[in-house]
Amino acid sequence: MMKTNKYRKITFEEHFMTPGFEEYSKVFIKHLKPEMLAKLSAQLNDIDEIRIAEMDKHGIDYSILSQTGPGVQGEQDLSRALSQAQRSNDYLAEKIHNHPTRFGGFASLPMHDPKLAAQELTRAVKELGFKGALVNGHTHGTYYDGVQYDEFWACVQELDVPFYLHPADAFVFPQVFDNHPEIRGAAWGWGVETASHALRLLFGGVFDRFPSAKVILGHMGEGLPFIPWRLDNRFSAYPFGVHLERSPSEYLGSNILITTSGVCAAAPLKCALAEMGAEAVMFSVDYPYEDTETAVNFIDSVDIEEDVRSMICHGNAELLFKL
Ligand code: MN
Repeated sequence: MMKTNKYRKITFEEHFMTPGFEEYSKVFIKHLKPEMLAKLSAQLNDIDEIRIAEMDKHGIDYSILSQTGPGVQGEQDLSRALSQAQRSNDYLAEKIHNHPTRFGGFASLPMHDPKLAAQELTRAVKELGFKGALVNGHTHGTYYDGVQYDEFWACVQELDVPFYLHPADAFVFPQVFDNHPEIRGAAWGWGVETASHALRLLFGGVFDRFPSAKVILGHMGEGLPFIPWRLDNRFSAYPFGVHLERSPSEYLGSNILITTSGVCAAAPLKCALAEMGAEAVMFSVDYPYEDTETAVNFIDSVDIEEDVRSMICHGNAELLFKL
């Protein structure tokens, strides 16, 4: 029996593990305590039992699922990256097929090669019915702002699906994190890495060349909602020859959208709404790394206008994913 909430809930930073992908994730999960790891593995490996029970318990209607990090971004070999992405996408499609009203899919993509990534995104969207892609950050230190990725962004724009830029470890950890593993990962460093990648896309002109391309950031925008004024102000002082068609802040909330995943605090949400607009903020949990009940209770009770709550919980996602 599904819990009935005031508002329908859609979530889309929700992760699973394709059988055989555990090796890629060892870099992250080796730090977990054994009992936490056992629970996490059971949750990641499951699609249709533990997960649906959890969704029902907390009134989550529909989830778009993605392979947990780093996935194929952790694969060194290009041809294997392609075959593994295809295999993961086919596996997910088969699982979704059993519960088409509860699950959608985000594609894994071999970003090692922009042409192959575009081809696999096209296949995933057109043949498997996926809703977009979720990519776990850089691919061995390559970021996606270079002109060699233009054909990929052209494909994203043409298919009219969003690209979820999910965190990963920095390719090389900056010295500032030396002897501080507790801040170089999920607590802080992933946000710095991922926000910086998003800013590379923005200042690299990706959204000038592909004005309707949409990139989603999790974790309340990885800190970016706090800094639009400073971005505009300091970019005008130090442009380094970079020309953008709009001021940096104008891409935030139009080309760059965010989810609330993993941030259940009123002040950052209100900042994000004020800086990016209510149309740009969407609910998500980051299952199974974050607690569904905490996320749902937060979004149901935080002090915001009811029409805004409805947009965050489901309305914006329905428009974005054409649900
Ligand atoms: Mn996540």
